[in-house]
Amino acid sequence: MKYNEIKITEIEVIHLRVPAIDEACEWGEDGVLVKVHTNAGIVGVGESDSSPEMIIACIKASMSHGSSQGLERILIGENPLDIERLYTKMYNGTHYAGRRSTMIHAISAIDMALWDIAGKFYDVPVWQLLGGKFRNKIRAYGTFIPSAVKVENVARVEELLAQGFTSLKFGGGPLGHDPELDYQIIRTVCNTARGINPACEVAIDLASAWRTAGHTIEMAKKLEEFNLLWIEEPITDDVLAGYRKVSQSTSQKLAGGETLTTRYEFANFMEKSGADFVQPDITRCGGISEMVKIYDMAHMAGMKLVPHGFSTGILIAATVHFLASREHGDLIEYSQSTSPLYTSLVKNHIPFVDGYVPVPNEPGLGVILDEEIIEKYRVN
Ligand code: MG
Repeated sequence: MKYNEIKITEIEVIHLRVPAIDEACEWGEDGVLVKVHTNAGIVGVGESDSSPEMIIACIKASMSHGSSQGLERILIGENPLDIERLYTKMYNGTHYAGRRSTMIHAISAIDMALWDIAGKFYDVPVWQLLGGKFRNKIRAYGTFIPSAVKVENVARVEELLAQGFTSLKFGGGPLGHDPELDYQIIRTVCNTARGINPACEVAIDLASAWRTAGHTIEMAKKLEEFNLLWIEEPITDDVLAGYRKVSQSTSQKLAGGETLTTRYEFANFMEKSGADFVQPDITRCGGISEMVKIYDMAHMAGMKLVPHGFSTGILIAATVHFLASREHGDLIEYSQSTSPLYTSLVKNHIPFVDGYVPVPNEPGLGVILDEEIIEKYRVN
């Protein structure tokens, strides 16, 4: 088939969930996938780390008027290789109901699938479409949820370093709610990790739990002895004046941005936060297309982009292709989730080997989905 003959025929949205619908998900036990079908037989795969039912609504909604449309009807009959044009068409066609948040999450999933289609159509990996690769492997940091029990944290850190990690991040669980316990947990993790590898990086993620700039400054000063790689979201990234205050009051570096969408929100964060690290998630920020723009903006703002990634193997693959294609894309988040959606949804899940993840060379994103896992956890 010629490049000008391929067309989008359907957007399938799949809601996956491991626990019962009224039980909580801790890390990656639910998900929403899109499969973009074409008349060429090529199917592109994407996902969003968002609310599945809301993503389904964004994609399947009918037309209210030209600025409030469902994404599927905007795309049917379109050429999936026109990725930048279709991004703009989706953004403009959802201008009233969209522009930020959930609609951009849905656009992110579809954008990812369009890059997958293009790679398969041209028979090259997505990193090749993005301009080629700078590296064949990317150093990974391991993310885990700490315990309030010291020996459990010691064991966890020993196990991660034995696996080959040279960089760690932890957050959630008890972290952020008791200053003395926070200090003890951070000291245990840092001392254990650096007792094994003195160069081991340690970052912490507060998920906004420190709440105020004043408390964060107090904690950050106390933690300067541990020279953390970064302190992530000590307070909500809605409050950039607070971020700025913290960044001007301590030598510790700040990170944030996993909840932000579009170049516009990132521009605001970069201008006002004083943070050193920015963490867009490809499944939410606007997909691979928007990620490329945010990367350039971060570089121009003197910040480092280290993507957020805490979902399935589809997101890991998309993140690896993106990072491989960027000069400073040398650090990736690698979740320690035990959810079957994380460990088994993608049959050829990109592995962690001696501190790094290899950059795949298959066409598109290169992911092979396990259809049995999809059927097992599909919400109908
Ligand atoms: Mg985080």
